[in-house]
Amino acid sequence: MASTIFRVQSHKFSQDNIQTTLVCSRCDEVFSKEFPLDLEGQTIEFKCPVCGAPGEADLPYKSAEEREEFEEDFEEVDEEEGGEDFDEEY
Ligand SMILES: [Zn+2]
Repeated sequence: MASTIFRVQSHKFSQDNIQTTLVCSRCDEVFSKEFPLDLEGQTIEFKCPVCGAPGEADLPYKSAEEREEFEEDFEEVDEEEGGEDFDEEY
């Protein structure tokens, strides 16, 4: 069992590989790594390049949008959606 999780912070599919930005749960460092397109949607194990801890990451699937918007510019979008507030008071 892996004690370290690499969270995919952002990712981008290129023609040859998956470019990801990952965060190590052990050392909290952010690093980028590229994976072959074959690994799309899979859980892969590797060692953190920063602290060397073995861990695993869940690679994203390429979405339909990403297949179409291939040539779009890099845009960092912060998606922080908090809890939804429903006021049901009369
Ligand atoms: Zn690390």
